Amino acid sequence: MLQAIIMRCITSVVLFIAFTLLSSTSNSRLAAPSLTTTDSINNGLRLEELEKVLIDRKSTQFVLGRSQQGRNIEAFFFPGISGKRALVIGGMHGSELSSIEVARELLRQVSQGDSTFYSVIIIPSLFPDNAELAQRNFFRIGGVENIGRYSYPGAVDPNRQMPTPGHGFDEEDRLDHAGRKIENENSLLLDLIGQYRPERIVNLHAIRVTTNAGVFADPRTDHNGIALGYASDSSLAITIASSVQKNGGYIPGNHLNKKPTALYYKDPAPVEAGAYQKRNYTGSVLPGKRGGGVSLGTWASTAVCDQQDPSKNRDAIRIITMEFPGSKRPVDHKKELQPFYQRQVEIYATALKTVFLGNYFTEVSAN
Ligand SMILES: [Zn+2]
Repeated sequence: MLQAIIMRCITSVVLFIAFTLLSSTSNSRLAAPSLTTTDSINNGLRLEELEKVLIDRKSTQFVLGRSQQGRNIEAFFFPGISGKRALVIGGMHGSELSSIEVARELLRQVSQGDSTFYSVIIIPSLFPDNAELAQRNFFRIGGVENIGRYSYPGAVDPNRQMPTPGHGFDEEDRLDHAGRKIENENSLLLDLIGQYRPERIVNLHAIRVTTNAGVFADPRTDHNGIALGYASDSSLAITIASSVQKNGGYIPGNHLNKKPTALYYKDPAPVEAGAYQKRNYTGSVLPGKRGGGVSLGTWASTAVCDQQDPSKNRDAIRIITMEFPGSKRPVDHKKELQPFYQRQVEIYATALKTVFLGNYFTEVSAN
């Protein structure tokens, strides 16, 4: 056990140092070569491969691992001009197909233009089995049945199965805060976060009530839930939302014209730095409390202080939730509405590229 902890610690440190040292070197933007792992199922991205991706500092496509049904979960790395690391997650809810479109559009924009300030890993579709199910039922996307949101009947909401806030992800137990098994796709994501150590994350979603569409930030806290101050998190979210609006995007949920807010309408209000921050553990109301639990936003924005395994310790991660208006892909809308929604996808992606991956409210402390 001790040996395993030491090994993990050494590997994290080596990875971190390698990345930091190499991050200041020049980078070239090449066509994405394929670096895939096809010889194993469900064992995830191999550490040495992620290390290679980060050290090479070339645009790279790799496979994070396999979904429950054996589909590849694709990931893409693009080096930035700084040593800062960002992570973009699409399709945590497979039913929200528009969020996958935004991730793919961001991928297209980042692969073409100038390098961004942040290096980034983009996972366009974290639950590809669920997205596939939603796509097969495209005429029902956006309906109350939520086809593709849950992985199987009775499954816990994919965004409510994270570990206890303040604690690291245990790769052996793989249990969430409520003691339930974390699904394979989320385990792969948590492994990646532990190894890549992003300073900021955006979790792409879509929202049925389109007047709530917007860009929101979770308040960061220490491992005990004591608030660290919300101002820069809020400012980052508002700046992304303002970019969407400025480019003609539809983003009413941030109330930019009245009283701008980065608070998701269901979440408790952020408190002053030094006070205890309440969190939303309820989620959607479903039988067996399977809509409740810890979201990625709550877990990531809480610092980790793990007494059993200090190699898992990390600062609170800045995490942004983007709620796109409606779950349909542009192609699923009526023909006359398709250009409007295609434009929205482009505008939302551009805001992520220019602001979220740009030099705005850059985190000062290294993880
Ligand atoms: Zn969602």
